[in-house]
Amino acid sequence: MSDQIEGGCFCGSVRYRFPTNDYRSSNCHCSMCRSISGAPYVAWMAVPVDDFEYLKGEPKKLTSSSHGSRYFCQDCGTPVVCLLEEYPEYTYITTCSLDKPEDFAPKGDMYTDDMLPWVKKGNL
Ligand SMILES: [Zn+2]
Ligand SMILES: [Zn+2]
Repeated sequence: MSDQIEGGCFCGSVRYRFPTNDYRSSNCHCSMCRSISGAPYVAWMAVPVDDFEYLKGEPKKLTSSSHGSRYFCQDCGTPVVCLLEEYPEYTYITTCSLDKPEDFAPKGDMYTDDMLPWVKKGNL
C-alpha cells in the first residue's frame, strides 16, 4: 500500500488525499444518507481534518441539517465529504469515492434501526 490514500468524484473535478492509516469506518443506514446519495446506505471513513487535503477542485456545500454539511462535486454530483458539528475533528469521506474502496471494508454499521428491510445485515 502506498503512503497516501487518494480519491475523488466520478468526473475527476474533485480530488483529495490523506495519509494511509487505520481509520474508523462504517456503513450508515440513516434516512438522510440514503436520500442524499440515492443509495440504500453509505459507507463512510473518518479522517482527521488536519490530515485531509484537496488536490483538485472544491465540492459544493449543502447544509443538510442543523448539525451537518455535505459536500458534492458541483459538476457530477458525487457525494464526497460530510462534516458534523458534533465531531469537528473529523472529515467524513464516502468510502466509495476512494480510488480503491475494495481495500477499505467498513468496520461496522450505524443507524441500523433505519436500515431498509431488504438490506440484510451480515450480507454487506
Ligand atoms: Zn465530479
Ligand atoms: Zn447517515
